[in-house]
Amino acid sequence: MQVGLCLAGGAAELDRVDLGQLCDLGFACLFVTCHEDDVHWRVEQIATFMRRARARGLVVYAVPSGYGKVLDPDPAAPSLYVDTHPQTLQVDNRGRRCPKACPNNPYFLEWFSSSMRTLAWLLEASGFLWDEPSFHHSRGTWACRCQYCQRLYQAWRGAEMPRDFGDDVLAFRESSIVMFLLAAAAAIQAVDYRLESVVMPTPTLPGMPIFTGTGDWDAIAACSACDILSIFIPWQHHNVPLEQALRDVYQEATRHTQRHGKRTLLWTAASPSPRDQVLEAIRVAASLGAERLVLSDYASLIDSAAFPRFADDLQAAIAAADQA
Ligand SMILES: [Zn+2]
Repeated sequence: MQVGLCLAGGAAELDRVDLGQLCDLGFACLFVTCHEDDVHWRVEQIATFMRRARARGLVVYAVPSGYGKVLDPDPAAPSLYVDTHPQTLQVDNRGRRCPKACPNNPYFLEWFSSSMRTLAWLLEASGFLWDEPSFHHSRGTWACRCQYCQRLYQAWRGAEMPRDFGDDVLAFRESSIVMFLLAAAAAIQAVDYRLESVVMPTPTLPGMPIFTGTGDWDAIAACSACDILSIFIPWQHHNVPLEQALRDVYQEATRHTQRHGKRTLLWTAASPSPRDQVLEAIRVAASLGAERLVLSDYASLIDSAAFPRFADDLQAAIAAADQA
């Protein structure tokens, strides 16, 4: 099994990363977050980092962040697009705009596709990861009821979009997210058809509902926009033992990916703290037969003051998984 690392800190973090150290530790792949603002000002620096990583034999993926925030798991991530294009943002059930572009808005889709094409040209990545594409959903409010969503819903169901959130709205957003992913994958694969499209649904454990639009793993795995289904395992947040959570998620994900000839990727939050059980996670994922486990992220793991004492154990765990 290969072990990967997520670098979520942007261009400023990439400056500090010692690629030799990551290779010595045994990491096989990197997921590099490309913040919209960073790409605007420092894209050459990100491109150089990726080129150097590839030269060392690492497989490198780009993880766009910001970009209208359809993709954003982090509500604090800035997006110049969101600030400057209020008319294309999602509209909630109270008629207010949310700080998140609507994936059904044609202007946004065109801008997003064009931005991803440019990024694919500029970066020598092996693929792109689409991180938690979602519609706004929180207690009591949900989106999107913009004119485009209402029109699409009418054409799709032959009825007006309901005022209340229910199964029909959920099915509509799931199909909308698949359409968005198709556009995203088409954009990068127009630049290079070999670029892999990796899809990260909203983190969950089997049996827990997801309302943001990525709950139907089978529909995602079935669509041509998904080469790899990437699942973040939030076991720490749900008080589920690590081994059980990893096994349940892996079995549920591979049930769908194997049916459609796709691959599965697992993610876990990582730090040297015993609380995160990183060494155990690597051992368990390898014993399950997983192809790859990604540790998230560089800041919480390698930048941690406790890391120097943890490094040898991590290196041994990655080496043992590599043999598995
Ligand atoms: Zn909309």
